[in-house]
Amino acid sequence: MLHKEKQIRIGLTGGIGSGKTFVGVLFSKLGIPVFNADFEAKRCMVENKILKKEIQYIFGNKVYRDGLLQNDILAEIVFNDKQKLEALNKLVHPVVKQNFENWCSVKNSQIVIKEAAILFESDSHIGLDKVICVSASENVRIGRVIKRDNISRRQIIARMERQMPQNQKEKLSDFVILNHDKELLLPQIIRIITQIG
Ligand code: ATP
Repeated sequence: MLHKEKQIRIGLTGGIGSGKTFVGVLFSKLGIPVFNADFEAKRCMVENKILKKEIQYIFGNKVYRDGLLQNDILAEIVFNDKQKLEALNKLVHPVVKQNFENWCSVKNSQIVIKEAAILFESDSHIGLDKVICVSASENVRIGRVIKRDNISRRQIIARMERQMPQNQKEKLSDFVILNHDKELLLPQIIRIITQIG
């Protein structure tokens, strides 16, 4: 009788601008499916009717206009209010978690990846077999985000300060991928796949 091999679930995390998504794309090009939890959370906040109602109930009707999430308004509400941020996470994370389960069950791949910026902070690492942290120096990360999002250094540093520090993420992870000019990414990725698979 054939037994389906146990699926290995890997977390992919890292601070703002570390290159999680960039590295995730490389994994998917190597045939490993990647679930982008941050993207999924945004999608659910727009498409999941029950979740939308709950968000509106707690944060007011102003967070949606013509059915579309007003990201800037919601961000402003939760940015400096830890309790409100926690309330939002409590609504969104169970939905994303369930969607990840559904997604995994239809992926016929021995290894799957869950990419999330706040993997440890949201306890989303629980249930995963291994975690990879993508790291780069603060200056490199700031430079990338300035270029990508066209926002100020000060805004980026404010966001960084609200995230778990990179060295703490590294300590909690099983693997670290160094994503800066001096290190090639593919050999690091292949080394990890070989160790996991
Ligand atoms: P966030 O948490 O802010 O979403 P992230 O960790 O997912 O960030 P990415 O969006 O993957 O980071 O990378 C930030 C920017 O830097 C992107 O524009 C990406 O294309 C670029 N980038 C990341 N790593 C590299 C690399 N090794 N070479 C070239 N560009 C890179």
